[in-house]
Amino acid sequence: MLILGIESSCDETGTALIDSEKGLLAHRIHTQIDMHRAYGGVVPELASRDHIRRVLALTDEVLEEAGKTRSDLGAIAVTEGPGLAGALLVGISVAHAIGYALGIPVIGVHHLEGHLLASLLADPAPRFPFVALLVSGGHTQFMRVQKFGSYELLGETLDDAAGEAFDKTAQLLGMCYPGGPGVSALAEKGVSGAIELPRPMMHSPDLNMSFSGLKTAVLNAVTKAPNPEDPQFRANVARAFVDAVTDVLAAKAVRALKKTRLNSLVVAGGVSANKQLRARLTQEVEKRHGKIFFPPLSLCTDNGAMIAIAGLKRLQAMTPEELDACRKRWSFSAKPRWTLTEAAHPDQTA
Ligand code: ATP
Ligand code: MG
Ligand code: FE
Repeated sequence: MLILGIESSCDETGTALIDSEKGLLAHRIHTQIDMHRAYGGVVPELASRDHIRRVLALTDEVLEEAGKTRSDLGAIAVTEGPGLAGALLVGISVAHAIGYALGIPVIGVHHLEGHLLASLLADPAPRFPFVALLVSGGHTQFMRVQKFGSYELLGETLDDAAGEAFDKTAQLLGMCYPGGPGVSALAEKGVSGAIELPRPMMHSPDLNMSFSGLKTAVLNAVTKAPNPEDPQFRANVARAFVDAVTDVLAAKAVRALKKTRLNSLVVAGGVSANKQLRARLTQEVEKRHGKIFFPPLSLCTDNGAMIAIAGLKRLQAMTPEELDACRKRWSFSAKPRWTLTEAAHPDQTA
């Protein structure tokens, strides 16, 4: 079966085609980063309007690349939430319009379930059960994923997400959004230990985390520096920041594996593209003879492929009655606020 995935929850329009037998056939992402830059953050109304401009063209592009037409589609998966209401509604409306015209089911997908399952598109792909570390622009959470649809929250950040801390650090160092890739590249030139930053909650016995104090510590280091523009100083700050974040996430990841007695770790979300984090987590997990999985680099931040794969898994888990209901349901509204545990399959939660 051919499934179209559509993502429009924030400032990226993503489309993708997945064949249930052959895997990912094509995917496209259009990012609105440049458009929002002048405003210092995502402007919801502009985001919605831009999704409207892009989504059909990006759908046609993936069909063309895969040598398919709309009538080849068997189902459509679309991000139902969480995210910006207006932005979500663009993807949802288009998915329903195409679904209605073709008489095919439209499946609403949770954005974080998409991130979490993106590594199913990697080779080798993880097998259930596993511990998931979801580390993105809005979330930093550990989940026990017993099987598809079963998501138990083990711990999370009590304040800022790790991605947000990357973005704020980048801003303090004079770099633009999104800050992750810039801070990561700058850190390569820095000297570990030249600047000391705290590792908040690293030794707390739970799986919760905190990153807002780290951001304040970066602010203090920058404001107190005699020459904050000095290239080596900036690189040392970036290095110290990356070291602190990776130390905390690695310590908590090891704790999560020990607590759950599982030996597979799946890392997901935008920050899972981070080179230093990938290396550090791989080292820690392999030391324990465990297995670690990351999404392909192009599928770490928001994209349509992760929505298509999550939709396909949902579709395959449906009973014939559920599938029939899905085919006849021609509208649903966006869920701007929606936790992943609320989206778990009721019959699949442990
Ligand atoms: P959420 O998925 O939680 O709703 P989001 O969709 O905004 O939030 P993602 O698209 O998953 O988040 O990730 C974006 C974040 O990932 C940004 O904060 C960005 O700085 C960070 N990021 C991207 N690449 C890297 C990298 N190489 N190193 C560190 N951080 C990165
Ligand atoms: Mg984004
Ligand atoms: Fe995301």
